[in-house]
Amino acid sequence: MTVDARKIRLVMQLRRAGVTDTAVLGVIERIPREAFLPPAFLDRAYEDVALPIGEGQTISQPLVVAQMTQALELNDRHKVLEIGTGSGYQGAVLSRLCRRVYTIERHRPLLREAERRFADLNLHNVTTRHGDGMRGWPEQAPFDRIIVTAAASGDVPRDLADQLAVGGIMVIPLAADRRDQSVYRIRRTAAGLEREELWPVRFVPLLPEAVPEPLERVRVQ
Ligand code: SAH
Repeated sequence: MTVDARKIRLVMQLRRAGVTDTAVLGVIERIPREAFLPPAFLDRAYEDVALPIGEGQTISQPLVVAQMTQALELNDRHKVLEIGTGSGYQGAVLSRLCRRVYTIERHRPLLREAERRFADLNLHNVTTRHGDGMRGWPEQAPFDRIIVTAAASGDVPRDLADQLAVGGIMVIPLAADRRDQSVYRIRRTAAGLEREELWPVRFVPLLPEAVPEPLERVRVQ
């Protein structure tokens, strides 16, 4: 089966699973998911599965990327914060549907690879940062949209809620425990936060703090 045929099959699967936003489906069709995978998994790029990307992390399943993107209700004026750059795939999808993406990753090697992919694909409206995404990006706040691609335990991290614009939407997996996670849509209104449970998921956990550089990676000037 050709790459194009595999893409079309995937988009049809997403439609059947309830992704109706044609802008989202169009971007899934145009962003080459194979560019975000380690070479060993290239032939599985258009299967609807999460795949390993190193550092014990995964590139999210296309259906989850599509559904979470759809849930964000994006437009081309939005400034979006993503927590958990990972492979960069979700960030690339966002970048085609909004004005600017700010994305934070705690593993520097993953971030470096994602940055290279954004450059190779000419996605110039994505800005990256190595650090703890739970603290958000205060210098760039407020954000119209926030998407978290790792599961927070318990409640919405406080700093992220504070950095969401009034009228803004956050899409975030929240975990009661490792097996019981759901994606929530949080709307910030003048009165406070409104929560809506969307569907059950399995994400890697959102962990505190940036992973320190191994010593051999630190260059002495
Ligand atoms: N959006 C990614 C999915 C990556 S999986 C993609 O499309 O490929 C979730 C990512 O969140 C992992 O790379 C993990 O390292 C990162 N992560 C977990 N906790 C974090 C934190 N506190 N700050 C920033 N990144 C975090």
